[in-house]
Amino acid sequence: MSVSGSNNNTVEAGRESRRAWHFTPELPIQQAPLFELPLSAKASARYFITIWRPFGFRFLLLLAAIVVWTWFTPSLARARTFDWAWVLEIGLRNLIIMVFVAGGLHLLLYVWHRQGDEQRYHDRPMEVDSPTFFFRDQVWDNMFWTLVGSVPIGTLWESGLLWAYANGYATLITFEQNPVWFVSLIIIIPIYSGFHFYWYHRLFHVGLLYRWFHSWHHKNINTGPWSGHAMHPVEHVFVYSDLLLYLFVASHPIHVIFNHMLHSIAGPTSHCGYHTVRINRFFSLQLGDFMHQLHHRYFDCNYGAYESPWDKVFDSFHDGTPEGDEWMAARRKRIRASRKN
Ligand SMILES: [Zn+2]
Ligand SMILES: [Zn+2]
Repeated sequence: MSVSGSNNNTVEAGRESRRAWHFTPELPIQQAPLFELPLSAKASARYFITIWRPFGFRFLLLLAAIVVWTWFTPSLARARTFDWAWVLEIGLRNLIIMVFVAGGLHLLLYVWHRQGDEQRYHDRPMEVDSPTFFFRDQVWDNMFWTLVGSVPIGTLWESGLLWAYANGYATLITFEQNPVWFVSLIIIIPIYSGFHFYWYHRLFHVGLLYRWFHSWHHKNINTGPWSGHAMHPVEHVFVYSDLLLYLFVASHPIHVIFNHMLHSIAGPTSHCGYHTVRINRFFSLQLGDFMHQLHHRYFDCNYGAYESPWDKVFDSFHDGTPEGDEWMAARRKRIRASRKN
């Protein structure tokens, strides 16, 4: 199949694509305009205003980071001396957040079916009695690796950083000392984290790294909230490794917690399987990530996030359209042919 294809092929691919998804956002999906050429300052400004709008997901994540730092994090004075007591306090708090977010979304969407299949990417149930998954059950498998792998490993990363601030190994700044950098870093963090995600994730799609580790995450073709962190514990170590930045850049624990939540909270939300989630009668949140949903379905496209240029640079961006399906089939054919030569 070629990219241009015949009309019949296009029509057939269109039918196939419609069968493939129960719901899609407006297609083709667009990446953030930050890295689109020619660069448009106006489009980028509009993007930032939208993504940071009050009570949008990113705004709420930052609010959560500030609340968690202010009331639910051990003081730096305590963190100066390593002690399992304060590490376990952070672990318990992270466990509660994970159960609240992933468990809450699972109950809302998959147990109570509060919005049926409205805005749901797939309309198939989670897998049960399947030899692919540990415990032969997708949800139990996903919960197990999230709670046993991601929560403790994420906690160790966060605790290590807190200890580093307390002992002067990380440079601590406050909002009062440097408000411009403090706020700038908050805006940079999701973009930086997206860059990090592309590169470590792309690496995990190569050879043994895929076979041994990342294939665990790809058991989930149809994803739910608990699938976000359903992965090999070795991969959990890498997921949170973008926190290393704060050993080199003047920052504050709020930055670390916000960056941590881009994984611990945004993992379950982005894999929830629904584009928009109705929280109550008056309030909905756009949580699903169709770009990553395409990655789970097709595996060899969309390795990165909306705010990184790499999929377009390396010709692996699938825009969700039937033409995108054709482009991908042609690309696979090209790659297979080049390997034979
Ligand atoms: Zn992957
Ligand atoms: Zn995923």
